Amino acid sequence: MVAKAQKNNSESYDVLVIGGGNAALCAALSAREQGASVLILESAPKEWRGGNSAHTRNLRCMHNKPQDVLVDSYPEEEFWQDLRAVTGGHTNEKLARMVIRSTEHCRKWMRKHGVNFQASLSGSLQLSRTNAFFMGGGKALVNAYFRSAENMGVQVRYNSPVDKIEMDGSRFVAAYSGNHKIYARSCVLAAGGFESNLEWLREAWGQNERGEWPAENFLIRGTRFNQGVLLREMLDMGADGIGEPSQSHCVAIDARAPLYDGGICTRIDCVSLGIVVNREGHRFHDEGEDFWPKRYAIWGRLVANQPGQIAYSIIDSKVFNKFMPPVFPSQSFQTIAELAEHLGLDPQTLTQTIEKYNAACQPGTFDHNILDDCHTQGLKINKTHWAQPIDTPPYKAYPLRPGITFTYLGLKVNEHAAVHFDGIPSNNLFVAGEMMAGNILGKGYIAGVGMSIGTVFGRIAGTRAAEAALAGQINHLEKVI
Ligand SMILES: Cc1cc2nc3c(=O)[nH]c(=O)nc-3n(C[C@H](O)[C@H](O)[C@H](O)COP(=O)(O)OP(=O)(O)OC[C@H]3O[C@@H](n4cnc5c(N)ncnc54)[C@H](O)[C@@H]3O)c2cc1C
Repeated sequence: MVAKAQKNNSESYDVLVIGGGNAALCAALSAREQGASVLILESAPKEWRGGNSAHTRNLRCMHNKPQDVLVDSYPEEEFWQDLRAVTGGHTNEKLARMVIRSTEHCRKWMRKHGVNFQASLSGSLQLSRTNAFFMGGGKALVNAYFRSAENMGVQVRYNSPVDKIEMDGSRFVAAYSGNHKIYARSCVLAAGGFESNLEWLREAWGQNERGEWPAENFLIRGTRFNQGVLLREMLDMGADGIGEPSQSHCVAIDARAPLYDGGICTRIDCVSLGIVVNREGHRFHDEGEDFWPKRYAIWGRLVANQPGQIAYSIIDSKVFNKFMPPVFPSQSFQTIAELAEHLGLDPQTLTQTIEKYNAACQPGTFDHNILDDCHTQGLKINKTHWAQPIDTPPYKAYPLRPGITFTYLGLKVNEHAAVHFDGIPSNNLFVAGEMMAGNILGKGYIAGVGMSIGTVFGRIAGTRAAEAALAGQINHLEKVI
């Protein structure tokens, strides 16, 4: 598919898709399916294409009976209640239910474009009922989508960060990548959040009561390319925003992870199997509050609120083989005092913390697959499930830092994925993925819902963008606005 016109360092397409992750690819494929000419502009070079989506493993899907790789059932209402609980009601029910319902059938479309699925992996994430895993992970998913897009005639350009958008009121006109201008009849923004922008994170999180700038100790789990350039540009141009800049999916990850792109293997999944202490040697939250997939996304923020934004997950040999081992190993220690010295913690305080915790553990039957009856009693902060004494050497510890997955500040949308200006939907500018996930995720997270939102809204945005471009709706709707 060639550009419709090419002159003076500019060109024109029906649909321009900005971004190269899941949401962008779903939008591009859907727009092309409608017969539109489509150009994808991806910031990253080809070898780093795919954004955060390349790091993913699964998407959350509703189903009323067993479906291919999904066991049992996960009805709409349960999915909705899970989402409502983690967001504390900071969600748009209409849009959320729309996403939930679409996940029942979207895998057929995904398969058509080359995505394969596999049964859930074992470990501390009990996901075989709720989440469909991508065979080969997110990298294989984005590779399949790029392959399918190219086969269908979608143009893809790498190393092409868009730095400016030209609008005529609420109508998209063109995008600039450097001094290159690309016109399109409609556009889908799918350029991620601003999680890779360290300055913006520092500003969003501000300074705490200890005089620290917590974001200076954050690590970014995914791509370095989601700098939020277009999010800021759109908000500055008057697009309606949604969500708080400091809200994000923020996980406790191994403090030894790299600044960017550490990915899934740096997550520490043994939190619910032991205890977590801060650098003063004190526990600060119930490690056994709920199943780990429903809780891991709050632990980044919990660690961010601790002195120095550091914490330590401590376990004993009883649970060594009960979780997915992280990429960086822990040394083993025969005593808690040795372990404390290695971590730079006060041995006496840590020993006291653990002795107190051990004494508070009540008899029960340990079972990590259910909310079991192993709990502590009488502590200021009790552990409500999976509480077993930490008393069987060797002992291990993993240092934890906040790992930002993606930010929730985004652009407000309706069910057509249209960007809004003063409450009025644009007729040719759409948005999908992290750039609008805040409509559904005001705060909190449940595993796999990021890809559910991106897939559903990516397809809607692409379809709508193609319709807007091909049906001459633009002139008609202009009159309405
Ligand atoms: C380690 C990790 C594991 C995860 N695991 C899961 C999981 O298993 N399940 C799940 O549901 N979610 C998971 N997530 C979250 C998930 O990655 C996101 O919800 C989802 O990928 C968002 O898709 P997206 O297309 O909006 O963003 P991305 O996939 O990040 O894509 C954004 C794209 O925009 C490009 N871009 C940015 N700025 C510009 C610009 N100015 N011009 C042009 N291009 C630009 C980037 O290069 C990138 O290609 C995970 C995230 C991480 C980091």
